[in-house]
Order: sequence, then structure tokens, then C-alpha cells
Amino acid sequence: MARRSKQSISTFLVSALGMLCTLKAFVWVLETKVLNTSIEIPFLNYGIIIGIVLLILRISFVLIKNRARKSNNVQEVVNDVTVSNDISTFQCANCGKKVSEKVRSYCLERPNKFNNQVFCYDHQ
Ligand SMILES: [Zn+2]
Repeated sequence: MARRSKQSISTFLVSALGMLCTLKAFVWVLETKVLNTSIEIPFLNYGIIIGIVLLILRISFVLIKNRARKSNNVQEVVNDVTVSNDISTFQCANCGKKVSEKVRSYCLERPNKFNNQVFCYDHQ
């Protein structure tokens, strides 16, 4: 839903800008080919400038939001990995009893003795 509304805003801006440019081209053709005098339509120039500025703002806003979302995703993945890692290595590999951070790091620092597994005090 949110993405659809986003797209419609961009599409609206692009079509509005396209319309203004078409109008500008039409006026320019009218000026040079038909009337041979310059027609001053200030709102047209302002409209095109405002349209371009809005479109640039819109694009940069979408880009920044996408970038923020990407970094959020990466962070979530990292959190998931650490959480699952913690759950599997905070238990005794023999009896499943919960062990403290100290016991866990003690076991993991001695892979030769404990074969990269964590054991509670009773099973060490
Ligand atoms: Zn145990």
C-alpha cells in the first residue's frame, strides 16, 4: 500500500512535469513558427522549475528511505544471528542446562578440550 502511494506520487510528478514541458514546447512553437512574437507566461516557467525541484526532492527522499531500510535489514539479520548463536551456546551440550556467559566463554576458549561445545560445571 505504502509503496503504491509512493509510486503514484512520483508518477504524478513526472506526468505533471511532462505536461508542463509539452505546454512549454507548444508555446515555444507558437512563438517561433506562428506568431513570431514572444509570449510571456511566467507561471509556466515557475511551474516547470517547481516540478523539477519537487521531483528531485521526491527521488532523493525515496533513495534515502530505501538506504535506511537496507541498513535496518542488515542490522536485523546480524541481530538474528547473534540471538540464535547465543541460544545454542548458552546451554550445556550434555544436559541442556543454561550456563552463564563466563562458563560459555571458558568452554569456547578451549576448543581442544570441549570440542567447541559448551558444558555446565557438572559436565566439564
Ligand atoms: Zn550439563
